[in-house]
Amino acid sequence: MSNTAIPLSNEISFADLKLAQPLMRAIADAGYEHPTPVQAQAIPLVLAGGDLLAGAQTGTGKTAGFTLPILHLLTAKPVANQRAGRPRCLILVPTRELAAQVEESVQTYGKYLALKSMVMFGGVNINPQIKALRGQMDILVATPGRLLDHVGQKTLDLSGVEILVLDEADRMLDMGFIRDIKKILALLPKQRQNLLFSATFSDEIKTLADGLLHNPGYVEVARRNSTVELIEQSVHMVPQKLKNYLLAHLIKHHDWKQVLVFTRTKHGANRLAEKLNADGIPAAAIHGNKSQPARTKALAQFKDGTLPVLVATDIAARGLDIDQLPHVVNFELPNIPEDYVHRIGRTGRAGSSGAAISLVDSEELSYLKSIERLIKREIPKVVVGSFVPPTNLPAEAPRPPRQQHGQRRHSNTTASAPRPAGAGNRNQPSRDGQGQKPRQPRDQQQPRHPQQRGPQARSGQQPVKPRPPQNPPADQKHLSEAARHQSMPQPALFSPRPARRSK
Ligand code: AMP
Repeated sequence: MSNTAIPLSNEISFADLKLAQPLMRAIADAGYEHPTPVQAQAIPLVLAGGDLLAGAQTGTGKTAGFTLPILHLLTAKPVANQRAGRPRCLILVPTRELAAQVEESVQTYGKYLALKSMVMFGGVNINPQIKALRGQMDILVATPGRLLDHVGQKTLDLSGVEILVLDEADRMLDMGFIRDIKKILALLPKQRQNLLFSATFSDEIKTLADGLLHNPGYVEVARRNSTVELIEQSVHMVPQKLKNYLLAHLIKHHDWKQVLVFTRTKHGANRLAEKLNADGIPAAAIHGNKSQPARTKALAQFKDGTLPVLVATDIAARGLDIDQLPHVVNFELPNIPEDYVHRIGRTGRAGSSGAAISLVDSEELSYLKSIERLIKREIPKVVVGSFVPPTNLPAEAPRPPRQQHGQRRHSNTTASAPRPAGAGNRNQPSRDGQGQKPRQPRDQQQPRHPQQRGPQARSGQQPVKPRPPQNPPADQKHLSEAARHQSMPQPALFSPRPARRSK
């Protein structure tokens, strides 16, 4: 693997990259003045025709980092008698939203070129895609499941692929796409250029890269966990059962207009969106169980500002590029610390500042510690002095036991039962709407609600001082008991004292 020393983006301009004139015009139209670091490093390597291993995630400008040189290369080497349904470049991505975004970028940067692109993902009618495949198509952006469906139906011919891109390869592996990827690789011509983009370099990624890439160039741009300075991060300590009240309060109190809220489960996302709507705050949930049109509509409304709150699971939100998102809320902390970095990377983009707020139950403190270790900083705990918890909380049903920290769940029902490879849960659509999936994606995990785990489990609970109700409900009695029994030192929760205001 060669490590190429390329000047930083502020030392080189787009003109230095020697891209074709129509691309330079599109770049100027997009308002880009300088290449981002990943573009400055990746574009020359791709233009030189070699394979590439790039460590970069959404928000770094990586899409233009591979799209611009690909458009340049395909235009510079036109193919005579290009056949229908036979792409020259295949870009594989893990999610439908990312597929749509990447193809939009291809169109944006290629708008002055004669090249044609197409996006292909599951969860939508296959027939319009079959029809589109009868026309010219140079660049195909696809999720693996639907792509293999087309191959099976012989509507797509992959024998003409000159350039392959695996975008967000780590997430593809995480979502159990490795078998699909291997099947797809077997369908491609041996002679081709391979570009692999991944936010992390796990052993699995290294194995994939070793088998796929030939003497690759290597670029790595600063990870979000070292570039989060622009994002103002804070933690509000709050029992799980009060989180939706606190969130509604924060949105109303600060008049937040665009908030992306992360929940750990699809079920939790639905429930929270319902509660916010009931509270007069328009909100929609996006996750793998939602139909593609519903996801697209919610995302479009969120982007254009008509929907103030989007509640998403990690998988659904992965790769979402929403410009200058002002607020990201972690309704629950992720149990994988890296996911925190991915989540808050949705804000503070393109040099703009943003705020990332985490609502943390005392039972999530170990998650918080792991996150703080990863980002090498303590996240300030901020008291929301203006919040008065409600007194009449509804009682809730008991809960299953809690997941180990850092452990990924692979089943929606029993945490330990292994599923045979390819045996998809019929109650859950697959990652891109296809039936087969060897592994359960993370956004199909069990909900966890600390307040529903019984009094002992709650002994680390925060002291809550709601106004004394006439007849306190049973679960509130537990809360005050928990407050009395708590053994470890806790940060303050809600205080009548004047407190530092959250953003
Ligand atoms: P990506 O990491 O590819 O999802 O890109 C993140 C955002 O950066 C997108 O909204 C792009 O439009 C934007 N972007 C990409 N390249 C540049 C650039 N050179 N200058 C300014 N913005 C850029």
